Amino acid sequence: MFDLKGRVAIVTGGTGGIGLGMARGLATAGARVVVAGRYEAKSTAAVTELRGLGAEAEAVVVDVADEAAVARLVDTTRLRWGRIDILVNNAGINIRKPPHEVSLAEWRQVLDTNLTSAFLCSKAVYPALKAAGGGKIVNIGSMMSIFGASFAPAYAASKGGIVQLTKAMAVAWARDNIQVNAVLPGWIDTELTRQARQQVSGLHESVLRRTPAGRWGTIEDMAGIAVFLGSPASDFVTGTAIPVDGGYSVQG
Ligand code: NDP
Repeated sequence: MFDLKGRVAIVTGGTGGIGLGMARGLATAGARVVVAGRYEAKSTAAVTELRGLGAEAEAVVVDVADEAAVARLVDTTRLRWGRIDILVNNAGINIRKPPHEVSLAEWRQVLDTNLTSAFLCSKAVYPALKAAGGGKIVNIGSMMSIFGASFAPAYAASKGGIVQLTKAMAVAWARDNIQVNAVLPGWIDTELTRQARQQVSGLHESVLRRTPAGRWGTIEDMAGIAVFLGSPASDFVTGTAIPVDGGYSVQG
């Protein structure tokens, strides 16, 4: 039910953090994995690590907000392995400022990286998923798909958008046997949140206090949901937004 042998997965931002945690999960379940990030050295390190797990892995260096680069990512994957079965839209950034301090360029950068990229990558893989008889798209939202934060207006807008884009694609492509779901991570220890802890005072303590599990998540915590949503185990699950958050979103 969870076997991914013979499946080909693309993980955007699979070069580090949550994306790498998910890529490891998919690789361990037998998938061949392409990681897509902006930097050569990070890409090489991730591929070496995934191959160390016994998986076949490649990297394509891309900016996922660039439509031509996304087309290259999809073409390269198809040329290498002849099919695509799973896409994880994980690449993301944050620029932490209150709304009145965010410039239009900053707004666009966050929306392009976090939301437009998911649209571009999904649209680009759709013909390959359809040709394979079905497939899986996993979009990474956030607790800010649900909650607001004074320091993250563009980020929250992009992550709210991810949930609605997920639903629209799920409905549009259900008859093609393509399942589209979102994952809403709680607070996970990565480069992104290490930066946040430096910029937002008291964040570390408030995460510990507000998370019922009493700890930050790790990238290992993100592997299981990637396997579930990438495998036949989730063939009748589509259009959902699943929190992986140690209970953060349900505490009163
Ligand atoms: P990291 O900063 O560790 O990882 C982000 C990844 O995105 C990097 O590997 C980076 O790859 C890639 N990336 C960023 N911009 C681009 C781009 N333009 N083109 C291609 N790749 C890009 O952060 P996280 O692992 O924490 O975040 C991953 C996702 O999870 C994001 O969407 C984030 O919003 C979301 N998230 C994270 C939470 C957390 O607590 N950590 C909570 C909720 C959601 P490279 O550097 O190689 O370009």
